Amino acid sequence: MDSKLYIHNSLTRKKEAFKPLNSPQAGMYVCGPTVYGDAHLGHARPAITFDLVFRYLLHLGYKVRYVRNITDVGHLEDDADEGEDKIGKKARLEKLEPMEIAHFYSDRYHRNMDQMNVKVPSIEPQASGHIIEQIEMVKQIIDAGYGYEVNSSVYFDVQKYQNDTKKYGELSGRVLEELKANTRELEGQDEKKNPFDFAIWKNAAPEHIMRWPSPWGQGFPGWHMECSAMSTKYLGEKFDIHGGGMDLLFPHHESEIAQSVAANGNEPAQYWMHNNMVTINGQKMGKSLGNFITLNKLFNGEHNLLERPYSPMTIRFFMLQAHYRSTIDFSNEALNAAEKGFKRLMKTLDTLEKIQPANESTVSFKELEKKCYEALNDDFNSPVAISQLFEASRIINSLKDGSEKIAKKDLDDLKAFFKSFTVDVLGLEPEEKVKEKNDELLSRVIENILQVRQEAKQNKDFQTADKIRDALKEAGISIKDRKDGADWSVEE
Ligand code: ZN
Repeated sequence: MDSKLYIHNSLTRKKEAFKPLNSPQAGMYVCGPTVYGDAHLGHARPAITFDLVFRYLLHLGYKVRYVRNITDVGHLEDDADEGEDKIGKKARLEKLEPMEIAHFYSDRYHRNMDQMNVKVPSIEPQASGHIIEQIEMVKQIIDAGYGYEVNSSVYFDVQKYQNDTKKYGELSGRVLEELKANTRELEGQDEKKNPFDFAIWKNAAPEHIMRWPSPWGQGFPGWHMECSAMSTKYLGEKFDIHGGGMDLLFPHHESEIAQSVAANGNEPAQYWMHNNMVTINGQKMGKSLGNFITLNKLFNGEHNLLERPYSPMTIRFFMLQAHYRSTIDFSNEALNAAEKGFKRLMKTLDTLEKIQPANESTVSFKELEKKCYEALNDDFNSPVAISQLFEASRIINSLKDGSEKIAKKDLDDLKAFFKSFTVDVLGLEPEEKVKEKNDELLSRVIENILQVRQEAKQNKDFQTADKIRDALKEAGISIKDRKDGADWSVEE
């Protein structure tokens, strides 16, 4: 694997040759969703962007450990240190356990990802499952002199970090002096030495549901801690790629770097990658603007901005048609065009199977294949790669209608090239195929669960057996007992 791949590094603001620390191993960490509501277009973009990165690295032969987290604690309402916990608030309003909220929306998120043919990451750690690791890291930061405790909360000392390292703002370009002038004076801020200090551990007020014991009392981790602690745990103190949406540059990722440097002296990631935002008819997306479209609504057409439903694979193609660092504007026209483009490539996949080889070739695809690699090696330029596949599609049609000819060996190469880029790298497959794959996966999971239930019954543990039956029923799956097992069906 020579490094022909160039990645735009948000940290240096330059395109750099990709050289993993332990080639052919490559480690990638991407910030996942905060699970307190259905996934929307803004979630689809990073998921699809880094799915492309994951797939292309695999295609190039790297062994990739891809970690994408689930935030289920510590993300407060104003994305800084104030307000109610997003999941805790939803739980309070719906009278549910916070973990019920987190589980419900993680599940729905996963379903949306499957629908869009987004590969499952290698590890998907949850913040609430890594409290111990976060507490350990807070201790390290305090020991290094960059954390201070006030009233059972612990804050990161940004000024000291900046004095010692001169690194604060290196990712986001924010200047401390400007931050000083612009930081709002919020409630609770008087605990901090400086208003731009951020919480790495927060004391839990009596009404705060999610809380854990710590050396500083009952509390919960600051939002940025989880990604530092979990990336270190699964990828090491230094790893290759850290990704996320551009909205996370500051304060989230800037704080992640500061925490790692303070705790262990290492900048965590070699390459920082950020996808740009999705706008809706030219406007920023926001709950208050009424243009907040969840993926489920997009897929079933239930939103007043939608002329009709758009399929998950249309959304995937739509996202890939733009370079990940450009903004992408959502509109019915754009989605109609994306659907046409997607269908054209799918039709070509079909046509490929019907082409008969000739004795000689009058066409060659070598140049197009080379251009596809060049495009993706140039910071994952998917729109350019797609335009090459469209060109291939045009030539493939002329093979079908007989105006051009292709020999057996060249036809095999063409099939391999077209499929590997369309299906493996871009993840574009006919909707039915994706559904089939998901159904297969579902079947396997349910068969395994039923096996466990069967074993419970054999051990006369009918309580567990009934629990499993009820849980499946609640998920919309009914089962019918047979002598030696059970049949299952999805309730309509
Ligand atoms: Zn994160």
